[in-house]
Amino acid sequence: MDEVYTLGVDVGSTASKCVILRDGREIVALSLVPYGAGSSGPGRAIEEVLEKAGKTTSEMAEILATGYGRKQLTIAEQSMSELSCHARGAHFLFPGVRSVIDIGGQDVKVLSIGPNGMLENFVMNDKCAAGTGRFLDVMAHILELRTDELADYAECAQKEIIISSTCTVFAESEVISQLAAGCDKADLIRGICVAIASKVAGLARRIGVRDELVMTGGVAHNRAVRNALAEALGHPIKSHEYCQHVGALGAALFAWQRCHKLAAENSN
Ligand code: ADP
Repeated sequence: MDEVYTLGVDVGSTASKCVILRDGREIVALSLVPYGAGSSGPGRAIEEVLEKAGKTTSEMAEILATGYGRKQLTIAEQSMSELSCHARGAHFLFPGVRSVIDIGGQDVKVLSIGPNGMLENFVMNDKCAAGTGRFLDVMAHILELRTDELADYAECAQKEIIISSTCTVFAESEVISQLAAGCDKADLIRGICVAIASKVAGLARRIGVRDELVMTGGVAHNRAVRNALAEALGHPIKSHEYCQHVGALGAALFAWQRCHKLAAENSN
């Protein structure tokens, strides 16, 4: 049988991610453009992933979109909620996964996953930037750093400076006044990572977490947040170099499942 390629596109609030899968089993190419819904990001991410795979759109058996801006992606034949796609993508990378904490640019989701990889329950916080990647991006900007530099600084801290405001706007003023008072950047950054972790841990406790606990989304790249969250929850946390692509991976897997089902129906 010919090889079947499927494309999953995650149109996030902050970044667009794509994954191309061969036969629902092998990751052929990934792309990430740091612009999300309502920008040129999704189109650029699709172009980039096709180029890396050496394929064209017409060679994709199915394109499935997920994420915040999935409905606007007209190139996709189908769309699916990011909750199901995160559950599916995490189960592909970690077959023993039972809980997922996804921290993206604009929201936080905690998922309970059944032994078969199906979504059982979830809780979500999307009303406020506290505890999200946006909070880290705002803080990095004030500190004149890139978001991906924060973890290295946090690990050099001698102590943590507690950030008492949970609101991003108030926390921003608090960090500015701490900097003006001469506080150490690394100690402040450790405090910022711990602040995110305690906010997310509070949300996770609402539905509880079980091992294996997997962290997904862009913020999973930040070791300092991951470690602070593991400590706050008292559970080890697993992550993966493809943590930010888990939604797109799940979308490509669902796309493959649809192709497989259609092929089976046609052969009957
Ligand atoms: P969305 O799906 O909402 O667009 P993502 O899951 O793509 O969100 O995550 C985006 C967030 O991830 C950014 O706001 C940023 O804070 C964080 N992020 C992305 N890359 C890194 C990195 N290398 N290190 C730390 N944080 C990162």
